[in-house]
Parts: sequence; C-alpha cells; structure tokens
Amino acid sequence: MIRFENVTKRYRGTKRPALSGVDFEVERGEFVFLVGASGSGKSTCLQLILREEIPSTGRVAVLGRDLRALANRKVPYFRRNIGAVFQDFRLLSTKTVFQNVAFSLQVTGSSRGFIQQAVPEALALVGLDGKEKRMPHELSGGEQQRVAIARALVNRPQVLLADEPTGNLDPATSVDIMRLLARINAGGTTVLMATHEAAFVDQMQRRVIELSDGEMVRDETHGGYGDRSMIPQLVPQEERGAAATAALTAVQEVQRETESLEPLTAEMIASMKAARQEPTGAGASDDEPKPSGAEPMPSGDESNTTPTGPRTHPIVLPDVDVAELGVADRLGLSATDDDEEVGPTS
Ligand code: ADP
Repeated sequence: MIRFENVTKRYRGTKRPALSGVDFEVERGEFVFLVGASGSGKSTCLQLILREEIPSTGRVAVLGRDLRALANRKVPYFRRNIGAVFQDFRLLSTKTVFQNVAFSLQVTGSSRGFIQQAVPEALALVGLDGKEKRMPHELSGGEQQRVAIARALVNRPQVLLADEPTGNLDPATSVDIMRLLARINAGGTTVLMATHEAAFVDQMQRRVIELSDGEMVRDETHGGYGDRSMIPQLVPQEERGAAATAALTAVQEVQRETESLEPLTAEMIASMKAARQEPTGAGASDDEPKPSGAEPMPSGDESNTTPTGPRTHPIVLPDVDVAELGVADRLGLSATDDDEEVGPTS
C-alpha cells in the first residue's frame, strides 16, 4: 500500500539529507506510528507519500503507483485516496464547519447533491453533527481536529496520514482523537501517524517505525515509543495529573476492545447496514462476506426522511465507545470532569 525503497531525500541547500536509505512497506489496514525526534524526517516521509516532495534517490510507491512516474496533472486525483490531518488543524478560518469539509469535495468536482449528503455523514462520523454552521474559532481544539478528520475522510481515502494530530490538544481530548483514529483504522483505513506522544505509542502497541537523523533505526511490529530522551517535555509528567493517566488507560482498554473486534469488523458492518435497511426479504442473497468498506445494499430507509438526492455510501465504523465499555465512568472521564479523583477509594 505504501512502499519506500531505499529513499533518500535531500532538500536543496542543505548539507545533510532529511532521509537516507529509508526502506519500509505498510500493508493495507495497518496502523503505524512514525516516531523520532524533531527533525528526524517524519514529516518528510508524509510529504513524500502525499507527493508534495519527491525523493532525491530511491522510490516511493503508494497504492501501487510509483509517485515519481505520476504526472503532475494526475497528482490531485491521486491525493483523493489519501486523507491528511495535521497538528495545527489547517482549517479555513473564514469558512464554516460544513464549508471546510465540503471544500475538498468541491475542488474535486463533486455535485452539490453529493456534497449535501456526504458532508453531514462525515461530520456525524466524527461526532460533530449539529455543528455544521459553526466557524472554526467557535470550536474547541478537539472539535477543530475532528473537522479536519471529517474533511480528510469525506473523500473516502484508503490511507489517512496524521502528522502530530494530538500535538495541540490536552490529554483527555487527545484520547478522543486517538479513539477516533483507532475506529477509523478498525473500519479498514490504513493509518500512518507521526507522533511525539510516547504514551499513546506505548499503550497502543502497534507497529512503530523510528527515524533518527533521517535514518530508519527501528521497525517493530508491536512496539513502544523507545528512547524518550529527545521528546520535548513541555509539561512535567506529574502535572498532567490523574486525567492524563485515566485517559491513557482508557486508550489501552479501547485498544484492546478494538483489537478484539477487528476479526468481526466486516460482520459488524454488515449487520449495522442490515439494521439500517429494514430487511424485508428483498431476495438477492449475497453469500460472499464483504470486507469492511463494502458497499451498502441499495434499498429504502424508512426511518430516514431524506428521500431525494444522490445516494452516497456512508462510512460505517465499528462503534468503539469508551462510555459503553464502562471505562469512562470507572476512570472519571464521563459527564463530570474531575481530575483529582480517579477510581474508587477503598
Ligand atoms: P520531523 O517531521 O521529524 O520533525 P522533518 O521531516 O520536518 O522532520 O525534517 C527533517 C529534516 O529536513 C530537518 O533537518 C529539517 O530541517 C529539514 N527540512 C524539512 N523540510 C525542509 C525544507 N522544505 N527545506 C529544507 N530543509 C527541510
């Protein structure tokens, strides 16, 4: 799905290459953390995947395409397959939430009707329904990042790149965003996340690719963050308090839950779709199990009063909800926001 073959990237006017001899392959459906100190080359990797940069030597292939061979005029089409979110959200400050998400569909020439349907679906997916008319400055940081994720997903990309997506968020909000990314991945989207957030990497136990001065120094299947000495410590660990601990523990539990759900994902999605479709024996039995992201069955939806407009294919993610797991209550992350008391006193 994403392949780096002996990639070296040297920016003009710099002495040392930003990347040198980097070699890895990411398979469809993986969740991969890209870690390393600031300046180690993480963003450069993501830019190469987006074809914002091209390698000085070596080859980057994404979705079976050698990006060097990709004609410039084809780049916008290629990028539709890749969603990207960043630390600073990169929302258009003069546009509403709806317009921000619609924007990527407008530039790719989607019809008005499609946009009217796809944008609310994407916003619902990230838990922002009802906030379509807000301006970015009227949202919290976590909500702004959700808008950015909705915008990244509205084109139904096969790959989601996230460059320090929790870098500007507090721990409890970060955990929400991690949970969302885990759900997106459980729904079949390949996720590559560059991060300094050691705790998430340690707790998620997913594949870790580590860069140091542009060289790949580790590629570990169920890795932790590793050497933390280069992570900027802006906030002393103890001051992050009980909320951070609780949030991270919640991620761990969600992660376990997500993993245990993964083999069932296709089945769950199928049953969610079936539940939406009001199965009145329409015939046409389809024995083949569909992979996640498979097309929903075409039929009426009696509870939904949107009879007109083009039919989109809603993105359906496994519903992994901390509150449902009871973790939020146990960790004090639910309704009240009490940082000091975590867990029952005995
Ligand atoms: P990271 O994302 O891990 O912080 P980057 O990929 O941003 O690392 O940077 C890797 C190296 O490449 C750094 O030394 C950085 O200064 C350099 N670099 C990044 N972008 C450019 C650029 N456009 N021009 C020149 N040097 C760059």
